[in-house]
Amino acid sequence: MVEDYSNNRYTNSFSNYKSRFGPDGLHLFNRGTGSNILIDEVVIPVQRWSKAPRQVSIALTNTCDLSCSHCYAPKQKAILDFNLLTNWLHILDINGCIGVGFGGGEPTLYPRLIELCEYAVNETTLVVTMTTHGHRLTDSFLKKLSGKVHFIRVSMDGIGTTYENYRRRSFNELILKIKLLKDIVPFGVNYLVNSATLDDLNEVVKLVENIGASELLLLPEVSVGRGISIDESTERAMQKWIRDYRGKVRLSISETHTDGIPVCEPFEMENGISAYAHIDARGVLKTNSFVQDGVLINDVEIMDALQILRDSN
Ligand code: SF4
Repeated sequence: MVEDYSNNRYTNSFSNYKSRFGPDGLHLFNRGTGSNILIDEVVIPVQRWSKAPRQVSIALTNTCDLSCSHCYAPKQKAILDFNLLTNWLHILDINGCIGVGFGGGEPTLYPRLIELCEYAVNETTLVVTMTTHGHRLTDSFLKKLSGKVHFIRVSMDGIGTTYENYRRRSFNELILKIKLLKDIVPFGVNYLVNSATLDDLNEVVKLVENIGASELLLLPEVSVGRGISIDESTERAMQKWIRDYRGKVRLSISETHTDGIPVCEPFEMENGISAYAHIDARGVLKTNSFVQDGVLINDVEIMDALQILRDSN
């Protein structure tokens, strides 16, 4: 079925939904409920496809107060300008981006984080997420952040002493910090998978269910920065664990390691830079956070930088 998308027939019926046009059809997203609707009967002409990536992750700063032995983040000092950031958020929003994820370094060390989240929530239709190590979360900080972020991800690498060997921070204190999130904002756990952390997965599932997390995102370790790639036998064991998984918490995995795993990918044709891009703390737009090269946005407008990146990949 071919529909005339130009009369906003669908968007008028779903007034709380943001529309995005792409090769897979009309994507409607409600950031209040997190609902996604893909109307794949609608054929959208190429010239009407939304120009911004569906998701953009942004490293606000390279600064971090931890020194994890497996850290991927660049260590040179860099921080993004607030006014540049709000301008980019506005442009991404009007060009059909669905959501932005703030990270770092450690995003809670970005001096104007609350103001930035407030801008994104009040002045754009973007869904705002943040990935943090969790140790700086306090009641007063979360009170200020409440209502200005839609989802928080907390990093975890093994439990107990395994975690403490990586992070040099108390695991029990981490759990107390994560529990502070419960009545403030939906949250999930980002879990590094390697030979040292794999065996803790069953315990982690019990833990995330108990503390009220809504997602467990598996991040097999990659050889970027100080990271060492997950070995083959650990990856095979992880794949088997995933196939056997029957837990209640939603399970996700990073795109780098989906081979051999049954994953749900509704956007089959919208991929590459149209699906996802990363902006590092120097303002360089990249295809993902692991690669070195990209396009410095300060030199061009963000949509021009996207086009340059698209053309070169
Ligand atoms: S892994 Fe995260 S928390 Fe640890 S040093 Fe790197 S940026 Fe900081």
